[in-house]
Amino acid sequence: MSTEKPSQNEDEYFARLDQEELRKMRDKAAAAARAAERKSHLMKCPKCGADLHTEDFHGVQVDRCPDCHGIWLDHEEIRLLMKDDEEGGPLRKVMSDVWASLQKLRAGA
Ligand SMILES: [Zn+2]
Repeated sequence: MSTEKPSQNEDEYFARLDQEELRKMRDKAAAAARAAERKSHLMKCPKCGADLHTEDFHGVQVDRCPDCHGIWLDHEEIRLLMKDDEEGGPLRKVMSDVWASLQKLRAGA
């Protein structure tokens, strides 16, 4: 037969409940902090942190940084740019524009 007083068992029982409740509260706070941290990066430039602007880029909506001029593409945007049509697809047009601007720079140098 146990020599422990019933009140000691009760104290241990409630201490365990308190610990479990504290653990749940900490887990919930940590999850909320992770969600807030993730949300703070939404539509922010991964290179410099500025707010991204959505722009039409050869018929595809892309996210562009007004500060560092980076262009950020998600899977669907890349798929649309890679899509081939009779003229070679938007990516070919983009690369053609980039190539033409490089040629102009080279000719001017
Ligand atoms: Zn940027």
